[in-house]
Amino acid sequence: MSPAIVRVALPVPLPRSFDYTADQVEDGDLGRCVRVPFGRGEKTGLIVDLPDSADLPIERLKPVIAIQREAPALPADWLALVDFTARYYQHPLGEVVAMALPPRLRKADAVAGAEADPLLDLTDAGRAALTEARRESRAIALLRQLAVHGPRRRMLLREKAEGGAPAVAEALKRGWITATVATDPAAMAGAPTLTAEQQAAVDAIAASLGRFQPFLLAGVTGSGKTEVYLRLIQQVIAHGGQALILVPEIALTPQLEGRVAGRFPAARVVSLHSAQAEGARSQGFVQAMEGRADIVLGTRLSVFTPLPRLGLIVVDEEHDASYKQHEGVRYSARDLAIWRARQRGVPIVLGSATPSLESWHAAESGRYRRIELANRAVAATLPAVRPVDIRRETLQHGLSEHLLRAIAARLQRGEQSLIFLNRRGYAPVLSCPSCGWVSRCPHCTANLVLHLADRRLRCHHCSGETPIPTACPDCGNQDIQPFGRGTQRLEETLAERFPAARVLRVDRDAARTRAQWDALLGQIGRGEADILVGTQMMAKGHDFPQLTFVGVLNADSSLFAADFRAPERLFQQLMQVGGRAGRGELPGEVMVQTQYPDHPLYQCLARHDFARYAALQLEERKQARFPPFAANALLCATADEVATALAWLKDARAAALPFAQAFGVQVFDPVPMRMLRLARRERAQLLVEAPARPSLQAFLSAWSTHLWALKPPRDLRWHLDVDPAEV
Ligand code: ADP
Ligand code: ZN
Ligand code: ZN
Repeated sequence: MSPAIVRVALPVPLPRSFDYTADQVEDGDLGRCVRVPFGRGEKTGLIVDLPDSADLPIERLKPVIAIQREAPALPADWLALVDFTARYYQHPLGEVVAMALPPRLRKADAVAGAEADPLLDLTDAGRAALTEARRESRAIALLRQLAVHGPRRRMLLREKAEGGAPAVAEALKRGWITATVATDPAAMAGAPTLTAEQQAAVDAIAASLGRFQPFLLAGVTGSGKTEVYLRLIQQVIAHGGQALILVPEIALTPQLEGRVAGRFPAARVVSLHSAQAEGARSQGFVQAMEGRADIVLGTRLSVFTPLPRLGLIVVDEEHDASYKQHEGVRYSARDLAIWRARQRGVPIVLGSATPSLESWHAAESGRYRRIELANRAVAATLPAVRPVDIRRETLQHGLSEHLLRAIAARLQRGEQSLIFLNRRGYAPVLSCPSCGWVSRCPHCTANLVLHLADRRLRCHHCSGETPIPTACPDCGNQDIQPFGRGTQRLEETLAERFPAARVLRVDRDAARTRAQWDALLGQIGRGEADILVGTQMMAKGHDFPQLTFVGVLNADSSLFAADFRAPERLFQQLMQVGGRAGRGELPGEVMVQTQYPDHPLYQCLARHDFARYAALQLEERKQARFPPFAANALLCATADEVATALAWLKDARAAALPFAQAFGVQVFDPVPMRMLRLARRERAQLLVEAPARPSLQAFLSAWSTHLWALKPPRDLRWHLDVDPAEV
């Protein structure tokens, strides 16, 4: 009998799979990991096909070294998912697989994980101890919690319960608590009564369980979207299904994990994210794949978790930029999640207070069903938002008198303020502070971008460029400036201005690790800070009952940034950060410092009118033929010198020109990137614009064959970015 052929996806930057022979293969080997000889060494890949014939004569194929049969095979729908990802994002399949799989997938992981986190409940002795207890102790406090809430997972008790791990250890040692067997994973603990809006949302979505239907759950911050997810998940688990919940930030997973685990004490919750230890990730992956996890919760990577009983997908904060990966395989987890929901015939809920314009448009056009939650679930009012006109004011280190007074008033009342820095404030567009002139491209609906290195203004769409003007072309003012300077010293400035106040900076530098982040959140929650200086991190998902004022600096830069998505992000961010103010009993107030107080963005913001803003933006995008009214891809190249990158991109463009037109696709001239140098490499890119995704896809698959055939200079690397987040 002749040996069988196995087709293997290997993690190498080539757009193809590799054929090998194996003495014995079974159908079950499809989707298994395999070690094979490659070049002078060995590599591990995944068997993606068992073809009848090979690309090469069979005698020229090498035999595999070993098929890993002790680990479970990846299911067919998972293979279809990675295959789609590879094709859609024009990335080698083997590299997609290597990214999507935990590095060392082992059967043993799942077995070890089986009882890693037992469900703990009171014993008779524990109940007796509780009634007889005369003195309070941390173990007794733990028993009381269990008596009130019912059994809990050990991990949750250790992390969240009063007394923590020592109390758990003590109660176990005394025989007051013991591991029990979970009977009903769908059992809920401590669920509030839904509001009428929430109930209507749950009913509408639940009616679609068992078939594909995307929902856009548009609900203001605090409207109780999470509560809606939890009720739906309950129904899914009760019917024997699994739920997948995607969240944007690792920092948000523990918080939601606690809430989910607390609600479903008997359900097996697995959380997955990229910062996890390899063992934990692989363990969770296998538990999900074997159907032993009821709920999988994680960041974008967890969209690749195999789920045999998948019943529902939730994408929380669906607009968040972190769903798009910015290196390697440049996928959008939100978009893949929708593909998966369709593939598996299950509903998907995209939740946000400020949906992406893509999703909003999809809802407007009827592809998604929109469900709105217009009211906060508790503490009713939305914060008062207003723009503060700073055109005629001398700022004190960037702070206006209004803002300083607002902070002082909070200090007096013992409440907290947050000064929010829009980091995109560094977007390098030139403007004139006296007349409001902004460097615009005469040929495009885009702004010219400041390239300081060679002192030129460039358009990233048409490659038009001019030298930097020495004075404002409109009014002659010689003091034209890039947006967004002078913000770094804000923390010091505030500390000087309010010497008695405790100023706390909350950004990526202050919260490098999870522990630091938790410590900061704890400090804020306990009211140990008066003024917070924060960036994007502060905008998301945390409730601070004492926080009643948010001041926003540097917002204007995003109005005129080169990237057409910048205003959308600004609106989202300001809505989100505004949502932090006044979530407790106290009403909130938001002030946005601006030179453009009449700008529609701020006007819509002040009215909390997302729908109006979305309509305006979509109209602009339609005029300018930006997504979702077009589909984009970027071809990016990096080299030691930008000239090399530009030359290669020119060749790439030339290769496309003969057939681009047939697809209705426009291929623009290559331009140096705004951040020209990154990690000592110089970068350039060219933009591809198609009328819609299908034509873009058809064009890209034709083009990529040419791209792979173009011999790149040795120092050149290139990649395609399909549906790029920034253009
Ligand atoms: P969102 O995800 O929309 O920001 P959450 O689900 O986090 O909102 O809810 C905001 C707050 O309101 C939370 O503290 C939550 O516990 C509470 N909450 C949500 N729904 C209800 C309800 N029906 N009854 C009482 N409290 C609720
Ligand atoms: Zn232009
Ligand atoms: Zn001017």
